[in-house]
Amino acid sequence: MAKTERVGVYPGTFDPTTNGHMDIIKRGARVLDRLVIGVAVNAGKGPLFSLDERVEMVRDEIAAIDDGRVGVIEVKPFDSLLMQFAETENADCILRGLRAVSDFDYEFQMAGMNARLNPEIEILFLMASETNQFIASRLVKEIAALGGDITSFVSPTVAQRVNESFRRLAPQAVNE
Ligand code: ADP
Repeated sequence: MAKTERVGVYPGTFDPTTNGHMDIIKRGARVLDRLVIGVAVNAGKGPLFSLDERVEMVRDEIAAIDDGRVGVIEVKPFDSLLMQFAETENADCILRGLRAVSDFDYEFQMAGMNARLNPEIEILFLMASETNQFIASRLVKEIAALGGDITSFVSPTVAQRVNESFRRLAPQAVNE
C-alpha cells in the first residue's frame, strides 16, 4: 500500500529553543502528519545546555502549544548524520527555517549536499516570520550572558533556564 502519511524531520541544536524555532515547529506541524524534532548532539558548537536538557526544553515548549496539533509532534535526540536520522524516521522531508540572507549560504550548501546523499528526501524551507526574523540562539545567549532581557525572544520558561544556567556558570560575577 502506498505511504500516505507525510513525515518531516526538523533538526537543530535548540540551544536554547527560541520563539523562532517554535514558530517553524507550529507551522510545520500544520502541514505534516508527523513532525519529528531532531535535537542534534552538536558538541562542536559547545552548547550551553546538555543534550538531555535541550530535549527536555523542546518537549516542555511543545507541551505548551495549544493549537490541537501537538499530537503530531515528537522530540528525539540524534547523533548520526542528519540524512541517516531522517531515513530512520521514514521522513519525506527535512524542515528548515530560513532567516533573511544570513541563513541562505549555509542552507543552500547543506541542501545540495543532503540532496546528493538521498534525493528522495526533500528539504523544505519555511521563511522566518516577520516578528522572529532576527532571533538566533547564539544572540540570545550573548545577551543573557551580559545580563540583558531575553524575554521577547524566548518563552518565560526558557528565559528562566537560560538565566539560571548563566548564574551557575558565573556565580561570582553575578554576586559582585
Ligand atoms: P543549527 O545548529 O542547525 O543552526 P538551530 O537550532 O540554530 O540549529 O536552528 C535550527 C533550525 O531553525 C535552522 O533551520 C534555523 O535556520 C532555524 N531557525 C533558527 N532560528 C530561527 C528563527 N528565528 N526563525 C526561523 N527559523 C529559525
